[in-house]
Amino acid sequence: TKGCVGFLGLGVMGREMARNLAQAGFLVRAYDVVAAAVTPLTAFGVEVAATLADATRDADIVISMLPDTPQVEEVVRGEAGLLQAPPRGKLYVDMSTIAPEATRKMCADLAAIGVTMLDAPVSGGPVGAKNASLTIMVGGEAEGVSRAEPYLRAMGTTLNHVGQSGAGQTVKLCNQLICGINIQAICEALALARAYDIDLSQMREVLLGGSAASWMLDKLGTSMIEGDTSAGFRIDLMMKDLRLVLEAAQKRPVPLPATALVASQYLDAQAHGEGRHGNQALFKVYDRMTGR
Ligand code: NAD
Repeated sequence: TKGCVGFLGLGVMGREMARNLAQAGFLVRAYDVVAAAVTPLTAFGVEVAATLADATRDADIVISMLPDTPQVEEVVRGEAGLLQAPPRGKLYVDMSTIAPEATRKMCADLAAIGVTMLDAPVSGGPVGAKNASLTIMVGGEAEGVSRAEPYLRAMGTTLNHVGQSGAGQTVKLCNQLICGINIQAICEALALARAYDIDLSQMREVLLGGSAASWMLDKLGTSMIEGDTSAGFRIDLMMKDLRLVLEAAQKRPVPLPATALVASQYLDAQAHGEGRHGNQALFKVYDRMTGR
């Protein structure tokens, strides 16, 4: 029989990842602070855990997909957390995007009680999560990576072990830095083209065939042009990632002027109540800047 997964955080990403694990034949026990987040997954054989400990106690592996560092700290250090109640399989894989520094500390504290922690943040968005085609960037001990691999393969197509604890998070933050600057570049191009009455949809098609093609232009371009701000990857989450990038940069220190500028644009979007919208809503900032 296949292993038992304690899955924590059934949001936009986690619910698809947990479903893929269940459909791959793993026994999944899922816990979310919002109980209603888990219920729809019972149709796929996922068991609802009423508490954190119910999800983790008998798990061969605990996987989390939580918003930010404090929620992961809560799962590790909180009452009934993994330090108090280690999972049977002594393996924990955090797939959220959080601070590399905090990750290293949690990894060390868990290692002291015999639990291996990996950081395995992902790229590919809700569609990648749905199709089990995520790119997974793993930091931590090789022994843990090989134990986690069958589970990770049920959620992603590209699995890369990029270094020791925290390295997965650092690579993910570099990914986010590039994505953020790229979204801003697309906003600027669309704002300029619009001011010259260019057909923006046609321009997107043209650019996708040339050297300015990008994942963001492909996946977000149309919703930017059409003003569809429905959530996928939210403005709030990208702002969180840009903050993590800038914090990590300050520690070494590494000046990141373009990232700092993009972060200011995201703050503008948040200040105008767009935090819960998808990242394509960054173009709303340019509507305001150009008097639209
Ligand atoms: P989300 O807010 O939709 O989901 C997070 C879930 O965690 C929610 O259901 C929330 O109720 C739950 N939660 C919060 N605190 C908890 C706790 N202490 N215990 C149990 N459950 C708790 O977020 P998401 O979009 O699924 O993103 C999750 C993580 O993945 C974030 O770190 C994000 O940056 C990263 N990520 C997101 C995307 C994306 O496109 N959405 C892509 C790649 C990476």
